[in-house]
Amino acid sequence: MNHLEIYLASRKQKLAYQYALWLLSWDQETETPEGAMQYRSDQIEVLSTLAYEVEMDSKRIEAIDFLATHPESLTDDLKVEIKRVKKDLDQLRKIPKQEYIDFQVLLSSAGHIWSNAKKNNDFASYLPTLEKVITYQRKLVKYLATDTVKGYDVLLDLYEPGMTVVDYDHFFNTLKTDLVPFVLKASKVKQTLTRKLTKGHFPKAAQIAFNTYLLSVFKYDQSKGVLKQSAHPFTSGVASVDTRITTAYHEDDLRSAIFSTIHEMGHAIYEQQVKPEYDYTELKGGVSMGIHESQSRFYENMIGRSDAFWDVHYEKLVETSPKQFKGITKDAFVKYINQVKRDFIRVEADELTYSLHVMVRYEIEKQLFNGKLKAKDLPKVWNRLYRQYLGLTPKTDTKGVLQDIHWAFGSFGYFPTYALGSAISAQIYHRMNQDFHIESVVRENNIQRINQWLKEHIHQYGKTIEPKDLIIQSTQEPFNPQYYVTYLKEKYTKILGMEA
Ligand SMILES: [Zn+2]
Repeated sequence: MNHLEIYLASRKQKLAYQYALWLLSWDQETETPEGAMQYRSDQIEVLSTLAYEVEMDSKRIEAIDFLATHPESLTDDLKVEIKRVKKDLDQLRKIPKQEYIDFQVLLSSAGHIWSNAKKNNDFASYLPTLEKVITYQRKLVKYLATDTVKGYDVLLDLYEPGMTVVDYDHFFNTLKTDLVPFVLKASKVKQTLTRKLTKGHFPKAAQIAFNTYLLSVFKYDQSKGVLKQSAHPFTSGVASVDTRITTAYHEDDLRSAIFSTIHEMGHAIYEQQVKPEYDYTELKGGVSMGIHESQSRFYENMIGRSDAFWDVHYEKLVETSPKQFKGITKDAFVKYINQVKRDFIRVEADELTYSLHVMVRYEIEKQLFNGKLKAKDLPKVWNRLYRQYLGLTPKTDTKGVLQDIHWAFGSFGYFPTYALGSAISAQIYHRMNQDFHIESVVRENNIQRINQWLKEHIHQYGKTIEPKDLIIQSTQEPFNPQYYVTYLKEKYTKILGMEA
């Protein structure tokens, strides 16, 4: 076999293991009975080892190294694929194997330690673990550094290739100057919300009926995906033909399931619309966390929380829960789903304040990896930044520095992509709106037209175009946070009845 044949044969095996392992993890989150947990995890251990052996096989590695330096005979797609695979491989080779294993062992208990600390409001009990995670991440930064990518940029690049501290500073400084003062002003506006919604009870069965209806409204392809329930909503996919989502129903707040379902559909429609021929390659799936989040936020906020959307679908919602919605107008409902409330918890934040929560985490991560911040000082710095950006001081660490799981898993550099995605979605909205009037299309209940635009300009490419280039290609200009600030100010000035 020549190098290419060796690579293609190993890729085929790798994808098969990946699919089996993915199915087991999907099953764990949605179906696995409690009693099977240990048995399942024993099988995962065997399969993971086999998958690792395939991936690190010396013939495969030799083939990748060869093809990366002799790309002449490769198709354009294969050139991109080999470049990506080679980048991952080089990173893996730079990390000493024993350190990598030790870190995985550390992570296997870190989640548990974090969750107990959060429950007991006990940062001190989590601190030693967090310090070890950070120490490893600092070493990782050194191992993976290149001539051009150093320090915190190394971590940022893992989640959003090409994005650096310079880019994110520009983005967050725009928010600091233009958005923070607006948020403080907006949150002083009195919002009257009906108790029937804020204190209502919404039986699960009716919610399921409405969320199922949403699947067809958004044309989420149910021949290539399913909607199930899990404690925390997520999207999980391995190929355009198998991309699944979950939601979570809360009977005291029906917004939660509706907007989780729409958000996850945004992620899933992206992956479902990648060119099907990439399913058998490493080019399938979304290209980065930020671009992925731009899609989910686009569907959730730009469509799902718009007045136009509920002009069409409010009636159906009332139909599924007539008693709960008796006497409540569509306008009152739209106000309710766009309520502005400065608060402590990121995952419960409204559209307007969401990115400010992310900004706090970004500042902290930057100081941890480029500055002199020590883990023990995190609670203090956290609270200071919340005061600065949101005008609030968390009363406990549970509602403060302990609220997110990400750092326990060593996911430093991940948070900024959440805010970046929201901002990119506004830039995409602006560009799409020049091709057709989005609100009218939503009022015509023709979301397929929007899906089609996103497929043509973004989705179909899978991982073949780097995120920064994809933004330029699809919106005709580099990332520009001004669209986001303008979008938010216009939307909330209107909804809150503020003076422009
Ligand atoms: Zn998301």
